[in-house]
Amino acid sequence: MDLISSSCAYCGVGCGLVFNSKTLKPSKNHPSNLGLACKKGLLQHKVNKNRLLKPLFRESIDEEFKEISYKEAIEKVAAKLKVTEPKKMGFYLSGQLLNEDYYIANKLAKGFLGCSNVDTNSRTCMSSAVVAYKKVLGSDYVPITMEDVLGSDLFVIAGGNIASNHIVFFNRIKKAKKMGLKLIVIDPRETKTAKLADLYIPIAPGGDTYFFLAVAKSFYDENLIDFDFLKSSCNFDEAFFDKLKKIDIGENLKKAGVAKDNLDSFINFWKESQDITGGWTMGLNQSSEGVEKNISFINLFTLTGKIFKPKNGPLSLTGQPNAMGGREVGGLATTLAVHLDYSEENIKKVADFWKSDNISKREGLTADEMIKKGGLKFLLVAHTDPVYHLPNRFESEKKFEKIDFVVELNAFSGSETSKFAHLILPVAPFGEKTGTQTNLDRVITLIKSFKEKKVKQDYEVLCDIAKELGFDGFDFNSSTEIFDEYKEMTRLSDMNIYQTSYKELEVSPFRWGRNLTKALTKNSKINLIWSEPKNRSLKTDSKYPYILLTSRVENHWHSMTKTAQVIDDDIEYVEISKKNMQKLSLKEGDFVLVKSEFGEAKLKVCEALIRDDAINIPMHFRGINYLTNGILDPQSKEPDYNHTPVSIEKYS
Ligand code: SF4
Repeated sequence: MDLISSSCAYCGVGCGLVFNSKTLKPSKNHPSNLGLACKKGLLQHKVNKNRLLKPLFRESIDEEFKEISYKEAIEKVAAKLKVTEPKKMGFYLSGQLLNEDYYIANKLAKGFLGCSNVDTNSRTCMSSAVVAYKKVLGSDYVPITMEDVLGSDLFVIAGGNIASNHIVFFNRIKKAKKMGLKLIVIDPRETKTAKLADLYIPIAPGGDTYFFLAVAKSFYDENLIDFDFLKSSCNFDEAFFDKLKKIDIGENLKKAGVAKDNLDSFINFWKESQDITGGWTMGLNQSSEGVEKNISFINLFTLTGKIFKPKNGPLSLTGQPNAMGGREVGGLATTLAVHLDYSEENIKKVADFWKSDNISKREGLTADEMIKKGGLKFLLVAHTDPVYHLPNRFESEKKFEKIDFVVELNAFSGSETSKFAHLILPVAPFGEKTGTQTNLDRVITLIKSFKEKKVKQDYEVLCDIAKELGFDGFDFNSSTEIFDEYKEMTRLSDMNIYQTSYKELEVSPFRWGRNLTKALTKNSKINLIWSEPKNRSLKTDSKYPYILLTSRVENHWHSMTKTAQVIDDDIEYVEISKKNMQKLSLKEGDFVLVKSEFGEAKLKVCEALIRDDAINIPMHFRGINYLTNGILDPQSKEPDYNHTPVSIEKYS
């Protein structure tokens, strides 16, 4: 068998993989990984158990599922959609979908059903970055690449443990460090990434915006602001600097829990570096002030002119394999299609392109809102598990119970959402599907199936639903045909995806946006936006004295329906500092009850290098969101997963 090219279906690095009839191997030529891959990525072809192969249906969630035919399943979905108002429908998509599947879901829901409530689980991991980029750069556009980072002199990582989340990128950073790259890591946990750092700053949970403002004020005091760059390339006003001048560095550092020495070292590294890049993940994004955190971090690059130059700038690191593709296709509730917002002009353009007179005309409910506030009568969930991953799970479960008809499209059984589903429609997993996905730095890779397809791919199921409803425009015979339509649609947007094709992607991946060297605002200038702490998160008190952080581990993926089949690393533990373990008379392996205002969980104790005001639980633990609070960032609607006050008590 010839080598079949593919791309990993786990993280946003988007490693190229090849299949050689028995095993997956890293592609030597793919720009994202150059011959590297991680353990879970290389074991994906062995994930074969717990496959969903037949449609399952039940009238109510108290009943057992019964097998039904595929035809009956499609008829049931169409029948329910026909009698449901668009505002009572919801489509909950996922960064695990390929671009073609995403495109069809968006086209069907927003384009033909007139349903605006189309959002994706990416809302819960990177929508704060999306909003920040749009505000600062005028578009959801990641301005640098991993190569820029590797070629820079200094890389600042804030709130991100790339050693566990972006493993191959971390390994490339280790190599770049040997060539002189300096690394600063800002994190309440002294992670594997922090251990590699030249400077590790153990910031207090939620202290980021305070710290970034202290840095910005130090830049001002030390004449590091590039006013020539600001005047030539940025939109700003004097009010920004009036406010900056009033920042009390000492006060901000106290609130950020950062020592003055650490700030001084940070400034020295910045001063001594020519080319500077930054990266971040959930520590900044998953917050009640995620947008403020993102903007205040990006501002550090704008203020010093370290942006829109090779090897300089801020790179938000998306977690899921195709979170970026979902953004491009238009899978977020705040976008209509292909990076186009809901302006009258855009609605007309998209309606004309899709030849539909029933297009949605306003932004829809976002992921958490759809479940908690939507009062939905129909919900389709594709390749994700909102019951498990949305915050404040007791609340989520109550709302799920009230939805008339929940359809789950999934490849594997065992999701928490399936407990609330009425219809489960099996769809193809990695290895059996064909399409494209976009990694964290805009590289689109063609993924080819290398196994016999046992069930339909998502786009085929969605097209069957559309055809059952009598809609034109869903007669696709292959994912190639869908990509051809999608890429033509990108001509309406700021993306040049129309410049590639499956034929070209067969030869090599394509990075869109190489032509974009300036901001995409009206005057092509970067917006310098004042951004300050909002203190919207819950506070600790004597009852709940610690802040719960949530994190990924290296070898698992989300709720582990796939990775637990091939890797048995334990994740049911809570990381506690040595000082707190002594204070609570705990030893490794003891069990504790972690309690919050919302719920509790019994977990094994694990000693870790973490601040004394925080504890950490892997997000793969299925019960994690019984503990988390339901506050959302008001702009991005991203949950505050990393700031729930909790208590710990020994379990006996
Ligand atoms: Fe897959 Fe990410 Fe591992 Fe690469 S680093 S093989 S993309 S999980």
